[in-house]
Amino acid sequence: GWLEGYVALVTGGGSGIGAAVAERFVAEGASVVVMGRDQDKLAAVVKSSTDPDRMHAVAGDVCSADDLAGAVAETIDRFARLDTLVPNAGMWDFQRQLTKLTADELSRSFDELFAVNVKGYLLAAHAAWPELVKTRGSIIMTLSNASFYVNGGGPVYTASKHACLGLMRELAYELAPKVRVNGVACGGMNTDLRGPASLDLADRSIATAFAKRGSDAPPPPIPLHDSSTDPRDFTGSYVLLASREQSGPITGQAISVDGGMGVRGFRSDAGGNHL
Ligand code: NAD
Repeated sequence: GWLEGYVALVTGGGSGIGAAVAERFVAEGASVVVMGRDQDKLAAVVKSSTDPDRMHAVAGDVCSADDLAGAVAETIDRFARLDTLVPNAGMWDFQRQLTKLTADELSRSFDELFAVNVKGYLLAAHAAWPELVKTRGSIIMTLSNASFYVNGGGPVYTASKHACLGLMRELAYELAPKVRVNGVACGGMNTDLRGPASLDLADRSIATAFAKRGSDAPPPPIPLHDSSTDPRDFTGSYVLLASREQSGPITGQAISVDGGMGVRGFRSDAGGNHL
């Protein structure tokens, strides 16, 4: 594997892309701590791992600096080092537009969503950087098509993911040359992504939107419109960016794994539809 002997900490590792990255890192030879809010989801990820001895669950909230410091300490206790931090825990606003929000909903959902999506990434980096300096490790943030383009969320989610892009670049500068900081900008994935409680969306999952999209539904308007939405198919770029051998000179960059949204055409989504 590309990550033999590496130790990683993944926030929001109990489901979705976080769980898929954790499992992939184990397959590449790493040991992984999955941190998240839901103890049952984390336990299931560890139990289903191909090597449960190289996976460890820590319950905690990424809005809490103490919980993140605890997760880093437990990582060192259990696996003796930290090479890779993956700030990933997040929530979505289900594309709720400005004009569909009351001022009160906007204010409360902004505070709730930014606390997880932005402050959660910043606090994770703050808790982990001293250990990452020791190993010349790296940070790989889960970013989004919404870090670059509109309509992947409403204004609150899009602003939060643009903020994470800025955070990634700023920290790449501040932590160089010891720690590399990069991102993987994922496109639509069939996961358990939830919404803010302040919009009554805490129990709604993006998976229901994928389930509703029947086989006769129009494909998403992206060039690779038949590409996978299984989070496991999005994990390769995390491995690449984690590996010192494969990407030692790469920092401050986002790899877009989004079906080519940036090369969408004007007249049709893909110019090769007739091929
Ligand atoms: P997911 O809900 O399956 O995974 C997120 C995990 O974070 C969950 O296990 C959840 O319990 C955990 N979490 C939420 N709030 C937390 C908190 N305060 N403290 C600790 N853990 C918390 O959804 P996912 O799609 O895998 O989301 C992971 C990341 O991927 C998010 O940052 C999301 O914005 C991003 N993303 C998702 C998509 C998509 O289409 N699903 C697209 C682009 C980017």
